Amino acid sequence: MRNIYDYTLDELAREFAPSYRAKQIYGWLYHRYIDDFDAMSNVSKELRAALKETFTTQCVKILKVEHSVDGSKKYLFGTQDGHSYEAVLLQMREEQSGEGGEKQSEARYTICLSSQIGCRVGCAFCCTGKGGFVRNLSAGEIVAQVVHIKRDNGFAPQKGLNIVFMGMGEPLDNFDNVVRAIGILASKDGLSIAPRRQTISTSGIAPRIEQLGRLNLGVQLALSLHAVNDALRSRLVPMNRSYNIREVLDVLRRFPIDSRKRLLFEYIMIKDVNDDLQSAKELLRLLNGFKAKVNLILFNPHEGSGFARPSAESVRKFQEFLLSRGLLCTLRKSLGLDISAACGQLREKNV
Ligand code: SF4
Repeated sequence: MRNIYDYTLDELAREFAPSYRAKQIYGWLYHRYIDDFDAMSNVSKELRAALKETFTTQCVKILKVEHSVDGSKKYLFGTQDGHSYEAVLLQMREEQSGEGGEKQSEARYTICLSSQIGCRVGCAFCCTGKGGFVRNLSAGEIVAQVVHIKRDNGFAPQKGLNIVFMGMGEPLDNFDNVVRAIGILASKDGLSIAPRRQTISTSGIAPRIEQLGRLNLGVQLALSLHAVNDALRSRLVPMNRSYNIREVLDVLRRFPIDSRKRLLFEYIMIKDVNDDLQSAKELLRLLNGFKAKVNLILFNPHEGSGFARPSAESVRKFQEFLLSRGLLCTLRKSLGLDISAACGQLREKNV
């Protein structure tokens, strides 16, 4: 059986002409989150029978949901071939002033998606990499994460969401499926998540960044930089042995970005490894000429990592130095720490 979430609207329209039928199916799948073909009441009986014969909506199932005290949720998904992978719904509260000046807090949501089961890159600070690589997720297995999470939370189809490909896996190592998933997620007749709301986070596969840039999809790009010299970066992010800092920054200079956006540089701060002021100075020099935003992430401790969180003082000095030199730099709040859903903590589970 074929996974229906693998298919673009055009592909379904080619299978089930005339094209309005594909739009009806997309409406049921992505606006009403219906996964039972028999419940698609405005679809003809013949078409429902044809759908049941060739397609399934059941390739991915939710196995477990964990709730964090900060409102985030971690989802464990099971595949038909018996593997599992995780995604996280991150909830951020924003304070706003109401009409009468009273404080109101509004929740904004980001879904952190996985693109692979396991990962080949093996970053030194990451749980996912330690479990090794199992296989790529199909586009439909990527898209299904969003459908399940929207349904589970009762989100209206038009609810604005951001997507970050920062869960398990290196998205550009699963290039074709990720690009296909971006298109399906963006479909105006489906989930309608514009590419500018989707961020690909990469360890720096230079030729794939170049290829993604040529497609000019309008997605955001984040580089997991984490170190300012090749010796340290090769230790933390082994991808650096194939494409070093200079090579990756060179291709990033040519990457098309929306004029209102910036290239993101992720920097995991690790105590006594890369949290010193000299590293901040070098980072400033490296990013000279980029319209950049640096995202500082505090290392999330996990068993056997051998690394520790930096002190609040060193983080403050690091951030203040970059800000004082005009480099936009934010400190990312670690969400979902209590359920091991924070950055670098996801992995395949046996349930
Ligand atoms: S940080 Fe990302 S690229 Fe590195 S091992 Fe973990 S999942 Fe793979």
